[in-house]
Amino acid sequence: MSKRDYYDILGVSKSSSPEEIKKAYRKLAIKYHPDKNPDDHTAEDKFKEAAEAYEVLSNAEKKQRYDHYGHAGVGGAAGGGGGYGGGGMNMEDIFSQFGDIFGGGGGSPFDSFFGGQQSRGGGRRVAKGSNLRIKVKLTLEEIANGAEKKIKVNKQVTCKPCDGTGAKDKSSVSTCSTCGGSGSVRRVTNTILGQMQTTSTCPTCNGSGSQITAKCTSCHGEGTVRGEETISINIPAGVSDGMQLSMSGKGNAAPNGGIPGDLIILIEEIPHEFLKREGNNIVYDLHLSIVDAALGYSAEVPTIDGKAKIKIEPGTQSGKLLRLKAKGIPEVNSYHRGDQIIHVNIWTPKILSGEERSLLEKLRDSPNFKPQPGKNDKSFFEKMKEYFE
Ligand SMILES: [Zn+2]
Ligand SMILES: [Zn+2]
Repeated sequence: MSKRDYYDILGVSKSSSPEEIKKAYRKLAIKYHPDKNPDDHTAEDKFKEAAEAYEVLSNAEKKQRYDHYGHAGVGGAAGGGGGYGGGGMNMEDIFSQFGDIFGGGGGSPFDSFFGGQQSRGGGRRVAKGSNLRIKVKLTLEEIANGAEKKIKVNKQVTCKPCDGTGAKDKSSVSTCSTCGGSGSVRRVTNTILGQMQTTSTCPTCNGSGSQITAKCTSCHGEGTVRGEETISINIPAGVSDGMQLSMSGKGNAAPNGGIPGDLIILIEEIPHEFLKREGNNIVYDLHLSIVDAALGYSAEVPTIDGKAKIKIEPGTQSGKLLRLKAKGIPEVNSYHRGDQIIHVNIWTPKILSGEERSLLEKLRDSPNFKPQPGKNDKSFFEKMKEYFE
């Protein structure tokens, strides 16, 4: 059984606006709503089909994947399987969409449409795979430029021999005898407000609507097995240590053709040998000899884009901050980029030869070698404030 085209289901085209898609779905949801079509399985299937189509076409990212790759791009385990567990969404998911569709606060508009009082707890359930967490270590250069990482992950994958159904073959799946395949059981109780209908998940099939008489021998009926997948992860420029990215549907596969979980990627920053990150700025400690600081110098400093030359003016004081504009880390999803800040340190010699010592002793009483801090020299904190705020 192959799936119908999502655009055909909703009767819209690729170029339809989100508003048109929403309108088309709203119409179908009202037409095929289970409250309006009790015990009509064809209507129920159409209702679910429409909800699934809307779920994809109303999401810009999913719509784009569907336009490129068809059902394979969005369905995960639900793609092409058909037959066994029903659509890719359960009733709770579908009803939870309605707040958005009908713009209501909490109450479903169907209450006023159809006048019924009922609680919705039942319906077929589709299992969801668990989320998978991995750590990705990145150098400062990778963070600055963005990176594509191919990572091999061990995870639960859909069992191939049974296509995730957990059944030995097609003949070993039968409709659940308790609920007749609907996945839920209804009960009518009399209350002072009139008849109240409650729906709950079928206890026999746990909401799947089907029963397996013989289990798949590869996965022992689980529908998933331990496997490996190489996942290509695009990391945007500007991420930081501790940040989490999530890739939907790349986590563990779900049993019985359910929805796979998400892959959560934890970013870890590998410290750089010379450069320190301070927000989106990069700080570098430059050490200059007293002579270079006094005479002026052309210093070479490392940056995340390679080496850069900077001019040291004669008479440069220790603690001076120099700035290389836009040589820092880009902000995520922005054109703005931080700076590299160079913190000048004057290196005082620790060991002196006899000759060095006598040269310096001659300079000791030289008037220009006596410290003469000016009133206008800023303190370290004033300078930091100036650069970081
Ligand atoms: Zn059942
Ligand atoms: Zn299997």
